[in-house]
Amino acid sequence: MSKQTPMMEQYLRIKAQYEDAFLFFRLGDFYELFLEDAIKAAKELEITLTSRGKGAEEDRIPMCGVPYHSAEQYIVQLIKKGYKVAICEQTEDPQQAKGVVKREVVQVITPGTVMEGNIIEEKDNNYLVSITPLAEDRFGIAAVDMTTGEFKVTAIDGLEGLYHEVAVYKPKELVIPSTFSEDMQQHLQKNLGVTLSFEDGQAVDNTLFHKIEEEALVKTCARLLNYLKKTTKRSLDHLQPAIYYMANEYMGVDVHSKRNLELVETLREKKKQGSLLWVLDETETAMGGRHLKQWIERPLVSKDLIEKRLSLVETLLDRFFERESLREQLNGVYDLERLSGKVAFGNVNGRDMIQLKRSLQQVPQIFETAAKLGNGYADELIGQGENCEGLRELLETSLQEEPPLSITEGNIIKDGYNQELDKYRDAMRNGKTWIAGLEQQERAETGIKSLKIGFNKVFGYYIEVTKANIPHLPEGRYERKQTLSNAERYITEELKEKETLILEAEEKSVKLEYELFMEIREKVKAYIRPLQKLASVISTLDVLQSFAEVAEKNHYVKPKVVYNGEVKITDGRHPVVEKMIDEGDYVSNDIHLDHEQEMLLITGPNMAGKSTYMRQLALISIMAQVGSFVPASAATLPVFDQIFTRIGAADDLAQGQSTFMVEMLETKHAVSRATKNSLILLDEIGRGTSTYDGMALAQAIIEYIHHEIGAKTLFSTHYHELTSLANDLPRLKNVHVSAIEEDGKVVFLHKVIDGAADRSYGIYVAELAELPPKLISRAKTILHDFENGDKHSIVKEVDESHQAFEEVSAAVEETVIDTSTQQAHDMEQLTLFGTIDKENEEESSKKKLSSKEKTIVDEIQKLNLLHITPIQAIQVLDELQRKLRK
Ligand code: ADP
Repeated sequence: MSKQTPMMEQYLRIKAQYEDAFLFFRLGDFYELFLEDAIKAAKELEITLTSRGKGAEEDRIPMCGVPYHSAEQYIVQLIKKGYKVAICEQTEDPQQAKGVVKREVVQVITPGTVMEGNIIEEKDNNYLVSITPLAEDRFGIAAVDMTTGEFKVTAIDGLEGLYHEVAVYKPKELVIPSTFSEDMQQHLQKNLGVTLSFEDGQAVDNTLFHKIEEEALVKTCARLLNYLKKTTKRSLDHLQPAIYYMANEYMGVDVHSKRNLELVETLREKKKQGSLLWVLDETETAMGGRHLKQWIERPLVSKDLIEKRLSLVETLLDRFFERESLREQLNGVYDLERLSGKVAFGNVNGRDMIQLKRSLQQVPQIFETAAKLGNGYADELIGQGENCEGLRELLETSLQEEPPLSITEGNIIKDGYNQELDKYRDAMRNGKTWIAGLEQQERAETGIKSLKIGFNKVFGYYIEVTKANIPHLPEGRYERKQTLSNAERYITEELKEKETLILEAEEKSVKLEYELFMEIREKVKAYIRPLQKLASVISTLDVLQSFAEVAEKNHYVKPKVVYNGEVKITDGRHPVVEKMIDEGDYVSNDIHLDHEQEMLLITGPNMAGKSTYMRQLALISIMAQVGSFVPASAATLPVFDQIFTRIGAADDLAQGQSTFMVEMLETKHAVSRATKNSLILLDEIGRGTSTYDGMALAQAIIEYIHHEIGAKTLFSTHYHELTSLANDLPRLKNVHVSAIEEDGKVVFLHKVIDGAADRSYGIYVAELAELPPKLISRAKTILHDFENGDKHSIVKEVDESHQAFEEVSAAVEETVIDTSTQQAHDMEQLTLFGTIDKENEEESSKKKLSSKEKTIVDEIQKLNLLHITPIQAIQVLDELQRKLRK
């Protein structure tokens, strides 16, 4: 390549400092991109790639550009795709420049720092997260939302904990030290799908960290702040002092469980509709919407705070009129957090200020309504918020009601706010009145009715007379200025004088208005902290009123929160499923767990409602711990420290993990972290491998949780053979989801009943799915053959297998899953009646049903449950039992 022009040299010098960003290089009215940037941007933005320079092909420089006034839309497109954009402006007047115009990068826009455009959803946060290694296997995590100013920091042990905690923020961008290993970088990118940025500066020069004691954590925050300063190159006044929290201040719900339980979005479509957030969101403000989402992501473990929230929800539910007023008043509140962010960032306009004013006007009424509730927590909240009266007054007296978007064209400041401005405005108005008068006067004097006075930017004010009327014009009355095809335009000395006065006044007033606006903006800056506090109080009130509203609409009840670990839900419902099906069709279910009955083994056909029942408990618990009422007719709940779920097949095939492996990893996660105060939900564990393999693992997992952990656990299985475990595990109880057969078809009742299910109904589900009739009938024959075949159990004596499950669990922990199924294939199915003694295993394995047992089985099979009453059923049972005992 031949020698570069000075401008290209300048470009290359600047570009070298921003290699990971598209460099938008200002050239006159365009931002130009060159070389690699140009080739890539032309493709991403679908704009034309041209080239710069003359001469041979290889000397030409690829280039593309966008007009500066419409650049935002292109920048937004790139940011949305996870790229960064460095904006390089001309920093001196080209006319004054000697040689190449000076240029400088004034801001780097990145996915985690973007403030412009409509990239960020109103009710979403936009977090930028940084990670700092603190010690071996210990990490500091700092998170900032530039749009709201929120700043948080914590320390986490272990890589897994790190991923889970970072994922809570769903960051768009991660700031890490350049020393992070390739492996780690790849893992972060793959798991979290984020833009990675590097920052090694940890210099501390900020008061934002005064609340953080641990030095290493201060450095974690500093890394983030350094990065923000370098990219935004602006005031960060709206960032709130960093707040330290411990992950165990909140209920631990790992990423998989959050996804599986569809807390804030659905699993497949990633939509809000169909999630718990969707059901609970009746918030009136965008801030409340974000707050609610944060609460759902982090349920509380402090019984006191949970009860405070619940008490205010109860009051709001009871006080319909106050709630209605509150909702109306909240509706008039704009996004105070984001408005404060804009003020600090310097991109606030007149309309934003008006939104701020209108919001502040609602505040006294909101506080008044909240005070009327007579609730201790409401009073506490009001006490925390300032009503920012001074700011409201300032905005009321200074700003016009409907200012334009632009802050450089005037019409923003109210009359009476500034004397000088009033003077200019008078001059303008008087001048314009004089001109209107002149038009009347000239028409009268010349007799030309169509004579008019107009204005254009080039010629200023003029008197216009149509060609036809020119003969009526007295000679020498006006001075000719411009000739049009059908008219002449004139001026007079007097008109010119007035024009100068008006234009001068206009120019001065526009300039003054801009200055005044900037002054007001500075004054607003002083209110950023109180505004943020106020925003937090208002959002809390908003979420709690939303809970009350939802509770009323959906007939929820206040849960009683207890310390003794008891779960007792009467007529519980799944908050989302009940909204998705026809009203009244949802079948409610009870659940009872305490320290004597910690685990439920749930059996029942596929599609019967097992996983819905399990999710229902998790969601109800989460709802209670965020302070919401719950879908039930009565509920007593403990404070769970963590919830673990293995529900549904959330395959992570993209990450090269099989369903079964994911299942085992999630199970490992649960069994290695759960405590007595946790809730574990395991759905159909062991389905991903061969029957015996799966069943053995399932049994071992149940036993492990029962003996070693004591967490409240729901375990659903289609291996109804496992139900015999209840005989040996005292704290395990069998329940099943009922289904009945009617005219050869199975009907799901969705009702959870004590006791074990009798079989799996898989073929009926296949029939429902309309598999070919021939296939179905063949399956029925095969099943029949199986059922009449020789069967014996693989469920070993519980005590003896205690040692065995430790081995299996160890295998689970190391996630080395032995999928060898040879041994399993050698075994056969369980007997209908009980487990077998290990010593007599060989003999027992040959055991067949006695003729007495067979008769009983036949009798049970023939029973038509639809046609007998519960009393008759008990009588039949009694009879069968007697027969057996004979
Ligand atoms: P399983 O886990 O037993 O295969 P699911 O829990 O997935 O079954 O339930 C299957 C479907 O049955 C759900 O999608 C839902 O529409 C319906 N269902 C489940 N439980 C209930 C219930 N209690 N009331 C009404 N419909 C239910």
